[in-house]
Amino acid sequence: MRIAIIGAGPAAVALIDTLTRPGADVPEITVFDPAPHPWRGRPYAPDLDSVLVNVPPALMSVRPDDPQHYASWLGGRGAAYHDPLLGAPLVPRGLYGEYLEETAEKAVAAGDVRLVPARAVAVTGDLRVRTEDGREHDTDRLVLCVGSGTPADLYGLGGAPGHIGDPYPLSRTLPDVRPDASVAIIGSRLTAVDVAVSLAARGHDGPIHLLSRGGMLPHVWQRPDGWRPEHLTPEAVRALGAEVTLAALRELLRAELDGLGEDLADLEADLRAAATEDPAARLRRQIEEVASPLQARRLLQDACHTVMPEAWPLLPEADRALLRRHARLAVSVASPMVPVNAVRLLSLYDSGQLTSVAGVRSVVSADGGFRIEDAGGTRHADVVVNAVNPPPGSVPAPAAELVAAMLAGRLAARHPDGGIVPADPRVHVVGDLRGGRPFLTGGIPDVAGAAARAARALMRG
Ligand SMILES: Cc1cc2nc3c(=O)[nH]c(=O)nc-3n(C[C@H](O)[C@H](O)[C@H](O)COP(=O)(O)OP(=O)(O)OC[C@H]3O[C@@H](n4cnc5c(N)ncnc54)[C@H](O)[C@@H]3O)c2cc1C
Repeated sequence: MRIAIIGAGPAAVALIDTLTRPGADVPEITVFDPAPHPWRGRPYAPDLDSVLVNVPPALMSVRPDDPQHYASWLGGRGAAYHDPLLGAPLVPRGLYGEYLEETAEKAVAAGDVRLVPARAVAVTGDLRVRTEDGREHDTDRLVLCVGSGTPADLYGLGGAPGHIGDPYPLSRTLPDVRPDASVAIIGSRLTAVDVAVSLAARGHDGPIHLLSRGGMLPHVWQRPDGWRPEHLTPEAVRALGAEVTLAALRELLRAELDGLGEDLADLEADLRAAATEDPAARLRRQIEEVASPLQARRLLQDACHTVMPEAWPLLPEADRALLRRHARLAVSVASPMVPVNAVRLLSLYDSGQLTSVAGVRSVVSADGGFRIEDAGGTRHADVVVNAVNPPPGSVPAPAAELVAAMLAGRLAARHPDGGIVPADPRVHVVGDLRGGRPFLTGGIPDVAGAAARAARALMRG
């Protein structure tokens, strides 16, 4: 069987790793990706050492059945990157990219895998993939693993001098920023944190503003302690079936917290405060709570990635709409920042170099820089860095033609909530573009789990 995989990021690495394991009936695999650093996907290309992985090693394995796969690969090298607060190594994302590359190279050596360094632009109904250079490649199965792409240009600043539309790799974009320039970063999520701490690591001494509508930062990781939930589990959701509602999930959470002697009301009060609490004060408190024995927030974060994918398609539409209205809060809980970055960010707030600017209404190119209108008035920035990642389900620009061809050829269909789903049994979609998922960005475990499921389906034929 011939399998075409479009996109050579972590999803593709997990796929070829599973498909070429000893004992598998090895298919003929062709992977398409024009990226200069194939197998690393969008986040894990070589970059500054200050650009770190966002999660501890047990959650960065591309093998769902071997959570230690990445930690074993890292071995003693991890000691140099130990985050004492988290109690685990957090390596530069470029080093994690080496893990992806080596895992892919082993699979290439073990099986019949070929990399075509070209962008796929079309696919026909009989699964003939066309690449940008006009070549055609016949296949029997197709897996779309194109990720979710680059930041959206919310304020139409593309091409304006001083505007950095796509910050990665920061090793390419930040050297152009004068050390004394005033920098406005659009967004206040993990990419914005990467930019702020990397500017500081490069010795930037001009003011840095984090611009957003609400000013909410990602929460801070708490030290993992291996505790496993008993009530709030994917199995419990499957048992509820059509009875799944937010209220039912809340009762599972309450049961879990009751068993631990913790109060759900405390967690809810803390989450409610996220929208109004001063970001630096909240950050300081959460740094103090990294090693807290309280499980509530760990539980909720874990549930976003384990329970929510099961629950999401079963939830009544009104509950899904409610969650979407609180998407910013949900994402900040589901994708927290690592403590080492939290500490760096807090020192920037404390020194007065960093400020959070909420209620941003407009950012326009003016006076040799940018004019920003926000809830507090008008301010100027010399440089604007766009750190707003597109929501899951967005079609990345390099895949736009291909996806359009798949939709037109009825190989795939749009999901009403965004993203696309296969409309032909020979087609699979893995990663954030897949419709029907919650609106949370998938981490490595989500992507690797989905890839392993696709691989099993492909092997079953
Ligand atoms: C900045 C950033 C940091 C992150 N950090 C972490 C982290 O530390 N830990 C974690 O668990 N998760 C992290 N994530 C989540 C991340 O989405 C996943 O870890 C992972 O990268 C998703 O893998 P993927 O293969 O689905 O997509 P991607 O990594 O986006 O890879 C998609 C690939 O498809 C290729 N492609 C696109 N269109 C075409 C086409 N038409 N033809 C051929 N190739 C194409 C692209 O060139 C790219 O190489 C991060 C995400 C971002 C954006």
